[in-house]
Amino acid sequence: METPVSQPLTSKQSVIFQTSQLDGKIYIREQKGYFQRIRRYLSWVLVSGFILLPWVQYHGQQAILFNIAEQKLTLFGITLFPQDMFIFSLIFILAAFLLFYITRLYGRVWCGYTCPQTIWMLMFNWVERRVEGSYRQSQALDKADIGPTKILKKTVKHGIWLSISLLTALVFMSYFVPVSQLYSSVFTFQASAVVQGWVYFFAACTYINGGWIKEKMCLHICPYARFQSVMFNNSTSLMTYDHTRGENRGPRKIKAQKSTELGDCVDCGLCVDVCPVGIDIRQGLQYECINCGLCADACNDVMQKFNYPQGLIKYTAKHVIKRQWSAHLGYGLASLLCFFFIRCVGLSAR
Ligand code: SF4
Ligand code: SF4
Repeated sequence: METPVSQPLTSKQSVIFQTSQLDGKIYIREQKGYFQRIRRYLSWVLVSGFILLPWVQYHGQQAILFNIAEQKLTLFGITLFPQDMFIFSLIFILAAFLLFYITRLYGRVWCGYTCPQTIWMLMFNWVERRVEGSYRQSQALDKADIGPTKILKKTVKHGIWLSISLLTALVFMSYFVPVSQLYSSVFTFQASAVVQGWVYFFAACTYINGGWIKEKMCLHICPYARFQSVMFNNSTSLMTYDHTRGENRGPRKIKAQKSTELGDCVDCGLCVDVCPVGIDIRQGLQYECINCGLCADACNDVMQKFNYPQGLIKYTAKHVIKRQWSAHLGYGLASLLCFFFIRCVGLSAR
């Protein structure tokens, strides 16, 4: 697909780009707005579902349980054994088709709105902002010499991160060990060494991932990030900066008359400061972008202050009208076929 023209950073823009980063660490500025609200509500629904699902009972049994000791999976009354791996393959194929389908329509919205990595990364960032203050204060704290305030704030932050990680690991394990046994046995230190080992292992993974690896997972490790661009076409909605309207960018006073020499971008750098992967959307389409919409929220706030129309940064498809319906129909049909196949095979496995 044809991408917006990338322009080299001027030295001033490079300075702005670096302000939210220190020694490779990105300090994410918190941002409120339309897309942030969608993500927050979605996160609440998804995290609540993750926590509550193991507590659901079906015909007197835990509705979803991967019983590793007995090598069977219980799924709302359906019991599957290792010889039913075929159904798992179909479930994974269905999930892949759905993901490809959504990506073709809306780009990396899975990454930006629903991926556990993003949800936990922003959850950890929320804790950091509450304990250490704004992203600038956080940056200053990291630069400051060791002292009582720094020790206290870092201890509290890492303590909360570790508690969240431990709870996450416990919830995850409750899909493998019946909830009726798991919590009481772990909290009374009577769980088997294997169960305790896995809980601590998953807690460590969550802590390292959410608190330290963060966006590097999306940038360098996640395989989905690498091949998703092959699913984009001219009808895919991607977060885009409107160069024609925004350039020439340049700072100005809020109440200044609109200049004919300057475009609508006031070069405030807020779209970079809020970006969880630390990129500048004004440089055009980049593989790092997770289509989360935070830069659009930040820019819309700025446009409102300057009394300019919103949407300098927005979701844009190059040819909205000419959607390739045949391709969408193909993904949709493949997903439906998989679903009905799973349903039929699942029912016969009851
Ligand atoms: S450029 Fe914008 S949409 Fe892309 S990841 Fe950064 S904040 Fe999110
Ligand atoms: S937030 Fe908007 S106005 Fe500010 S630098 Fe980014 S694109 Fe320009």
